[in-house]
Amino acid sequence: MSQKQHTLFDTQPEPWEQDDQSEQPVASVVLLQGPSQQFDYRVPDALCGRVEPGCRLRVPLGKGNRLVTGYCVRVEYRPAGSRRLKPISELIDHRSLLSPAMLRLTEWIADRYLCDWARVLETVVPAGVRGKAGSRLTTLLSIAPEKADRWPTMKLPAKQAAVMKALARSAQPPTPAELARRAHCTQAPVTSLRRKGLIRSQTVRQQQQQSVEPATVCQPHLVLNADQRRALDAILATLNSRQHKTVLIHGVTGSGKTEVYIQAIQEVIHFGRQAIVLVPEISLTPQTVERFRSRFGRVAVLHSHLSDVERHGHWQQIAAGEVPVVVGARSAIFAPTPRLGLIVLDEEHESSFKQETAPRYHAREVAIARAAAEEVPLILGSATPSLESWNRAQTGHYALVEMPRRVLGRALPMVGTIDLRADQRRSSRPPGAVSRQMHGAMRAALDEGGQVILLLNRRGFSTHIQCPACGHVLRCPDCDIALTHHRTRQIALCHYCDHEVPAPTACPLCDFAGIRYSGLGTQRLEAEIRTRFPGVPCLRMDTDTMQGRGSHERALAAFRSGKVRILLGTQMIAKGLDFPDVTLVGVVNADTALHLPDFRAAERTFHLVTQVAGRTGRGDKGGRVLVQTFDPDHPAIQAAVRHDYAAFAAGELPIRQMLRYPPFTAMVRLVVRGPREQVAGEFAAEMAERLRAALADPELAARVLGPAPAPFARLRGKYRFQIQAQAPDDEQLRRCVRQATTGLSAPDDVQWIVDVDPLDML
Ligand code: ADP
Ligand code: ZN
Repeated sequence: MSQKQHTLFDTQPEPWEQDDQSEQPVASVVLLQGPSQQFDYRVPDALCGRVEPGCRLRVPLGKGNRLVTGYCVRVEYRPAGSRRLKPISELIDHRSLLSPAMLRLTEWIADRYLCDWARVLETVVPAGVRGKAGSRLTTLLSIAPEKADRWPTMKLPAKQAAVMKALARSAQPPTPAELARRAHCTQAPVTSLRRKGLIRSQTVRQQQQQSVEPATVCQPHLVLNADQRRALDAILATLNSRQHKTVLIHGVTGSGKTEVYIQAIQEVIHFGRQAIVLVPEISLTPQTVERFRSRFGRVAVLHSHLSDVERHGHWQQIAAGEVPVVVGARSAIFAPTPRLGLIVLDEEHESSFKQETAPRYHAREVAIARAAAEEVPLILGSATPSLESWNRAQTGHYALVEMPRRVLGRALPMVGTIDLRADQRRSSRPPGAVSRQMHGAMRAALDEGGQVILLLNRRGFSTHIQCPACGHVLRCPDCDIALTHHRTRQIALCHYCDHEVPAPTACPLCDFAGIRYSGLGTQRLEAEIRTRFPGVPCLRMDTDTMQGRGSHERALAAFRSGKVRILLGTQMIAKGLDFPDVTLVGVVNADTALHLPDFRAAERTFHLVTQVAGRTGRGDKGGRVLVQTFDPDHPAIQAAVRHDYAAFAAGELPIRQMLRYPPFTAMVRLVVRGPREQVAGEFAAEMAERLRAALADPELAARVLGPAPAPFARLRGKYRFQIQAQAPDDEQLRRCVRQATTGLSAPDDVQWIVDVDPLDML
């Protein structure tokens, strides 16, 4: 974690050596294995002028001079005393993989998220680019220039003469195989000619063609309405100021935000610059992509299903400045656009913008840093901004633009709640997932030719398997998590580690035959819907049904075409979809996330209900939303029912402030885990003690909570303890955490992670 400079001397410096006045290039290198600080190496004469920051190198390390790989991060001229540094052994990349600006960004990320710089570098440069996927070394042949005049007069064997003639006719330098084919011979005569010096060869790296396909249709722009105009003007004002500014567009679902992004991008492209558009992976649907393709022709789409070869091809074209628009999920923020003009981050409240493995960066924060460094505007858009962004807009750090109306005078849907407590009291038989009222509304919507979306944020059939005789709950042996019954495969499955057992018919503990399956998952909901609405085509979308490549697209296409009338599923159906015929959205249980031990539980619930409600009323038929809940008076649900983001924020922010939670304080979460509960717990206690010492200064107004068992106290056989460190000043907090954790050595079987600005609190 320390960024201190270390130098490796082969020998101690002699006084007379320091008299040498000449200078020598020295490369600072971040190693991919071994110690995390930087090391300096001498650039040997053979590599002089070829080693650039952003290239990978092989360098000797330690007493045994073991060769390790690292990234060159700086080249400096130093007095020749530096001759005593070890020399670089090998240059891996002949062209830098990172521009100076991107290299600085990686250093910023390492510092901001308290992780190794090397780890960041490996994240930013995709594996396909590092491995040069889809490219290979090729030998290309040409006639040796000094023999160009003489060979026609030379006496050559017939085959060799044919080869020379074929080569002379080649417009581009051919490979040996190509040349042999053209001369209708084997490669033997080609080899002889190379040996004689008549043919010269050169080795180059060639990229397989993986180009970003240009789209065919090009749609004209829409005429913006007044709200959209205002939003675009705010963006253009910052564009023209040539300064960085973040603009938060708070626009209700269907207010036409995407059209604003498109026209802002148009402006940027007009000036020969490029735009990066970040969307949550889940909304990287053909529908989204098509909207950009049909306007801009060449759009690079970076999604997680790309092969290494495709990714490398896109990367090269983006880096060459050939692609004006890059659309992608989180990691597209690292797209190597040489002339960036604008960054758009849509659905900015989405937690998928945060990476949950090291480096645990948030694409929004990285986007701010990148946009500031490259002096371009950043547009954040959402119907339900994160409270972090909202607070920054309220305090003047962002420009705020409101788009409170839907386009074309369309109304926001009416949202009603259904009190499940009342419904369950009334009914005598075991209740299903769908209340009487919901059933009636579905019937009516279907009868009028509309489509229905049903959201239930739990997959599987039964979410709870318990023996009524002894109380035993079926849990994962390795995780602190109850198993979920999946009926299609008759298994009980751990949703964390995928451990599975055959679904039991009797209690595994006491043998009681009446073991009970309860709790509602999407599979059970689907079965219920098929019974309630026989003959109505219905489709379930959750991670179980959406495994195959393209299954997501196929499902959405079936729904769009109207073949499927009821779409039910987990949150993957809540986001970004735009189907004009959906006239009813039902939330089966709005409370699933409300009572999790997470200070953002209310915010998540508000987001989810508001977002899924936004899926209806997008066409001429209008639409309504019904929300089933056990807690209809909860402020998050009340605010979502009234489409009142401001009210939600106004109610929630004072609570955060009072409890000293983000956005009013910076937070770092540390998680310690290990197979032995006591060992892990003791190490966590030591860590907490160090943190308390580092943050003891009352000026910091910091607090350290824990260690305490994490809400998921055991996962994959490891006991987990968490510590939260909080302080109002994020920079001071990070500095103290770095200080407290540097040089801390954990027992062999204990691992720990640092999560800056954590979103996952479980
Ligand atoms: P949001 O991104 O805010 O959800 P969209 O940009 O997707 O909103 O707009 C919703 C729908 O309205 C889309 O089908 C879009 O084509 C259409 N639309 C957007 N702006 C206009 C406009 N100015 N005139 C007509 N239709 C528009
Ligand atoms: Zn498990």
